[in-house]
Amino acid sequence: MHLRVQRMTAKIINGVAIGAEIRKGIARDVDQLKAGGLTPGLAVVMVGADPASAIYVRNKLRACAEVGIRSFKYEFAEDTKPQAVLDLIRELNARADVHGILVQLPLPPQFALAPILQTISADKDVDGFHLYNVGGLVVGNTVFPPCTPYGVVKLLEHEGIGVEGKNVVVVGASNIVGKPMALMLMQRDATVCICHAKTRDLAQFTILADILVVAAGKPRLILPQMVRTGAVVVDVGINRLPSGRLVGDTDFDGLMEKASYITPVPGGVGPMTVTMLLANTLASAKRIAQRGT
Ligand code: NAP
Repeated sequence: MHLRVQRMTAKIINGVAIGAEIRKGIARDVDQLKAGGLTPGLAVVMVGADPASAIYVRNKLRACAEVGIRSFKYEFAEDTKPQAVLDLIRELNARADVHGILVQLPLPPQFALAPILQTISADKDVDGFHLYNVGGLVVGNTVFPPCTPYGVVKLLEHEGIGVEGKNVVVVGASNIVGKPMALMLMQRDATVCICHAKTRDLAQFTILADILVVAAGKPRLILPQMVRTGAVVVDVGINRLPSGRLVGDTDFDGLMEKASYITPVPGGVGPMTVTMLLANTLASAKRIAQRGT
């Protein structure tokens, strides 16, 4: 008896191209707002000189410029007292030309995260990390969907991959990626399972996934034998190998023969995260303009 081994060739989901398409629409909307006398503005606050954070901030500012969003960059030294950052945030909350406020994470050890996130006005919380917005996510009434999971949802939508009734497994349960991802997909009627570092036998869960979203920050965590043939694989992870190469959390080459769709690293979820930050800033400017405050 011959066993037939089913081989697939996954479609690579091109986050750069999809992001560029969405950004074109954002640029058009920004132009319209500007014609009406309103320029959307994003304030980006960075503390310390973490090289990865510096790259992320640079990319965000460049993306703002490309779509016509005005950006304001604030840099603090590594040893800054939290009070100085809290004072700046309060000032930005009150400014009419700032519609979004983002504090680049991680912060140095002297900072407690919660007071920083809760001081950002919920109306300008374009990262979606304020408790008000987290609560909105839980009850299915989000104001600012967190950018990375929002980007994943947009990638799936763009590819016409429905989530309703699908088995979705999210590997990673952080507040900024895994948990909001699970909530957003649950809101769209997927059956969601969340795995984390203490999950026993990860593969027994991942193998059930129609859609597998991985955000653990561990290279080669997900191998082909852990994935069902034809599954959709979204790799959120960004890991720099000792060689300097950037990789995700999955065995991309191995999964090309197993998955139906897969996101590359780099060029998958990353560009979408920045795109959805622009989308949230634009939405905030529109909302504030509509309210007339
Ligand atoms: P994080 O705060 O470190 O959280 C990692 C999560 O993965 C935790 O919930 C952890 O479980 C879980 N985990 C760790 N090892 C695991 C394992 N062996 N098996 C199963 N789960 C495991 O990281 P994050 O901020 O969510 O980011 C995750 C990854 O996504 C990182 O590589 C990050 O660079 C990347 N990222 C990419 C983007 C983008 O735009 N593409 C945006 C944000 C983050 P516990 O909760 O039990 O510790």
